[in-house]
Amino acid sequence: MYLLLGYGKSNQSIEKFFIENQIKYVVYDDYKKQNNIDLSNIDVIIKSNGITNNHCILEEARFKNIKIISDLQFYFDETKEEKSCLVTGSNGKTTTTTLTYEILKTAYPENTHLAGNIGIPLSAMIKDIKPNDFLVAEISDHQLCDMYNFKTNVSIVTNIVEAHIDFHDSYDRYKAMKKRIFNHLTNEDLVIINKDNEEALHLTDGLDLNPVYFSKNSEELCYFKDSKIYYDGEEVVDTTKFLVKGNHNVENAMAAIIAVKKYNVDNETIQSVLYNFKGVEHRLEFVGNINGRLVYNDSKSTNCESTKIALKSFNQPTLLILGGLDRGHSFDDLTPCMGNVNYVACYGETKSRIKEYCDRIGVSCGVFDTLVNATNACYEKATKGDVVLLSPACASWDQYKKFEDRGDEFKNTIKGFKGE
Ligand code: ADP
Repeated sequence: MYLLLGYGKSNQSIEKFFIENQIKYVVYDDYKKQNNIDLSNIDVIIKSNGITNNHCILEEARFKNIKIISDLQFYFDETKEEKSCLVTGSNGKTTTTTLTYEILKTAYPENTHLAGNIGIPLSAMIKDIKPNDFLVAEISDHQLCDMYNFKTNVSIVTNIVEAHIDFHDSYDRYKAMKKRIFNHLTNEDLVIINKDNEEALHLTDGLDLNPVYFSKNSEELCYFKDSKIYYDGEEVVDTTKFLVKGNHNVENAMAAIIAVKKYNVDNETIQSVLYNFKGVEHRLEFVGNINGRLVYNDSKSTNCESTKIALKSFNQPTLLILGGLDRGHSFDDLTPCMGNVNYVACYGETKSRIKEYCDRIGVSCGVFDTLVNATNACYEKATKGDVVLLSPACASWDQYKKFEDRGDEFKNTIKGFKGE
């Protein structure tokens, strides 16, 4: 008997699969009023991503030697023959997964699937994926925790930075989890690593693998030189034609190029996708050229670190919208990247602290009650060729339910000026 621990999207789709296939199961979710679960009849627990390792049911299950797996492991137990490309890393997973998927989908429209953290849970796709189909999925370290005997054909590690330590006991454990993405790989499988990231580079130490690399600094299988990306010595794309900006997106593109080259995708197809890719929604997404202003939506940025990455992506004069939930964090970290910013429009709980910060560093700053008013001000003040950027460096919850709603409001507001 299975126990579905946590009743989120992925376990709900496994439930559907169980019902259709008459497999016995029970569900337990902390947020539903339930009696404590009796584990004596349970053989396997399928746990939701969000459930921490020290959940009391898991502790008891370990004591009783009950198998604990993730929904992904369940998927891999049920299907065997797809061609899978899994993407993991600290940053850039969603973008790299999306790029790889978009390129493969353009080359092989009938049989390419996207799953995992983005979009449909993998467990919902068990019946849809046929042998030899392509599957591209983003895998978080949380999911890797409960995966054991799966195997991929292509594994990408975008980069590893010291993060997520609160969830795992230590950084070493975090890295050990990431290593699982190399499980059971053979020399025929592709391991794609960021050569410029020390931590990612050492991830394959001691493993019998032949990793291939992408780099901005050295001529690896895939590399970046003079604004172009080369694969195996041949020019593939000119990054000045990208709509998405930033070195980080060049890295994401290089990882995707290596992955799709394994499946013989030609340069024209790669170019057609990369030259039209506007970014993943709300992550430095190119909203459009609105009467000469280049508008970008980076609503996912909820801290100074990601706003710095956004600011570093532009050379043009920039009008920046900052503000949102006040967690008491300082904005001083932004200072080294504020060189091109000639106006800040701030709003939300943090507005007076942002105003004080801008006054201190000598950047002109307008204070507003709402994002709509801040957006209007940036549009009015911007001239042709300027960048208008929402990269708020704060969570959205003071005025929005989620960062997606904030990004949507920004896009709708700025698009209202189109054709003026
Ligand atoms: P993830 O899925 O790993 O959270 P995303 O692709 O959603 O990553 O990107 C989220 C943010 O992370 C981006 O807006 C950008 O600030 C940053 N980012 C994206 N790609 C990279 C990269 N390759 N290296 C460093 N930072 C990145």
